[in-house]
Amino acid sequence: MQFKEFAEYFQRIESVSSRLKMIEILADMFKKIDSSEISMAVYMTQGVLAAPYEGIEFGLATKMAEDALSIATGKDKNEIESLYKKSGDLGLSAEMLMAESKLRRMRSSSYTIGMVYDSMIKISKASGKGSKEVKVRTLAEVLAASTPIECKYIIRYPLGQLRLGAGDSTILEALSVAHTGERRMKEELEHAYNICSDLGFIAEELYKFGEKGIKSIKVTLFRPIKPALAERLPTPEQIIDRLGGRCAVEQKYDGFRCQVHKSGNTVRIYSRNLEETTDMFPDIVKATKDSIEAENVIFEGEALAYNEKTSEFLPFQETIQRKRKHDVKAMSEQMPLHLMAFDIIYLNGKSYMDLPYNRRREELGRIISQNSERITLSNMVITKSAKELNKFFEESIESGLEGIVAKDLNSSYIAGARKFSWIKLKRSYRGLLSDTLDLVILGYYLGKGSRAEFKFGGLLCGVYNKKSDMFETISRIGTGFSEDNMKKLSSLLSKIRAKSKPARVSSLINPDFWVDPVYVVTVRADEITRSPMHTCCRNNSGDAEVGYALRFPRIIGTDLIREDKRAEDCTSSEEIDELFKQQKKVTTKF
Ligand code: ATP
Repeated sequence: MQFKEFAEYFQRIESVSSRLKMIEILADMFKKIDSSEISMAVYMTQGVLAAPYEGIEFGLATKMAEDALSIATGKDKNEIESLYKKSGDLGLSAEMLMAESKLRRMRSSSYTIGMVYDSMIKISKASGKGSKEVKVRTLAEVLAASTPIECKYIIRYPLGQLRLGAGDSTILEALSVAHTGERRMKEELEHAYNICSDLGFIAEELYKFGEKGIKSIKVTLFRPIKPALAERLPTPEQIIDRLGGRCAVEQKYDGFRCQVHKSGNTVRIYSRNLEETTDMFPDIVKATKDSIEAENVIFEGEALAYNEKTSEFLPFQETIQRKRKHDVKAMSEQMPLHLMAFDIIYLNGKSYMDLPYNRRREELGRIISQNSERITLSNMVITKSAKELNKFFEESIESGLEGIVAKDLNSSYIAGARKFSWIKLKRSYRGLLSDTLDLVILGYYLGKGSRAEFKFGGLLCGVYNKKSDMFETISRIGTGFSEDNMKKLSSLLSKIRAKSKPARVSSLINPDFWVDPVYVVTVRADEITRSPMHTCCRNNSGDAEVGYALRFPRIIGTDLIREDKRAEDCTSSEEIDELFKQQKKVTTKF
């Protein structure tokens, strides 16, 4: 497809305010693209160059893009910089400057999607001495040959500012509509995506081999699987009840979730949100090589700091130093992490996802060397008694842990979903509202009075409704911000302001500024209450006029923004509904 046509589709997607319309336009666009370009088109729609776990970055700073624009237009760099300062969007500045020339407006560019993508790959691959010039020159060449609309998107793409607002789920639905004319393949596509985490690859398989291609997507080494997640319940009795009696109860460790892939002597580690984090864990890599007795394996565990002298696990504040300290190598020698392994997904050419928990656990135990000092099987008991579960929970808390995760003995590994096959019980569940919530920032307010100087007065936050693929509002958060946090939030959020309410946001409230839903914050509140102001669960509460809100919400957490969670990983509307019901049930059990 000509890039000009592709860019015109992007222009239409950007201007819609409804998710359904967005799917319609995306599906229409995908239909016109052939199999040789579909993966690139999907990556571009996501704003990436490849599956995010590949970690391929453009490595192009705004200044370099300004230089390229200056070369392509012959305009002075200062003029470009001041235009950019005014609009805050270099894509718009590029479009405007290009449109000044009648010749360019009339031009029919000859670039295809594939050609633009190849140039972007060239930009990303340039490294070392002279790479800056290569990047600037390559971008300038593409810009100089393109029309104003093309330029807008060509410049936004490597700067990470495409901001089309189409989430992964929207793209999958659009692929289904493009391929079958309806949404019926969405679930199948989603399943494949949970297993391989690569939307471009899925699109290509679909285009080349149809439904058969999607069905044949299997667990593969060095392609992370979306992690299984835990539900919550507030009491041991409810957990036992829900799991039908006998279940496994494991200690819950508070560290970094690691999905470890090993093939021969190659080991790679992926985080909870599927980024490759191998470099952060040289100690775990070494331990895997030394003490995992399997040629090819994918297994999971929680890496955390451990005091060998006292045999105690250390709190997350200690473990997280690994992320903050620049010298990972020194840190890994000074305070090596311990991996508490809790699941196995793949072994020697076979997926273990469909095996029941107890079989997986057995196999996991078998591949960990008895002498291993750094990798241990998570502590676990099997019980059908709520009393015994509670005892194990109390002991875990006493030894400094977060709580427990109870697991269904017969359940398969459910990738990418929070199902009741894993249920967590945490120390924090003793309060009225049992757990902290991870909310996505949807908008923000300007400060008044003493806060005016920070240009920040509070947040509008929301949760994610998985079924409708929409973000729903749940709370305004106006208190508890330190001056530092206000400055940081004002600066972060001003960069992602949206012109109007994003298409995937459902709200009855208008903040001073809407933002693209990308940042997640951890919030504690006293209670979930019913509210006519918010859209969270408004349509599935049985009472269409009422949603949910939070009482006394405040931001907490070691870091202000949860970097390990994407917007869609925030607390879901379903969880809020469940928590609201649990709140009512909790009496004085603890
Ligand atoms: P939380 O903040 O409670 O960890 P989360 O959203 O990151 O929440 P959950 O699905 O709610 O993740 O809780 C499961 C998490 O607990 C896993 O992602 C994993 O990192 C961690 N964990 C620690 N110990 C275990 C265990 N034994 N089995 C499974 N997960 C465990």
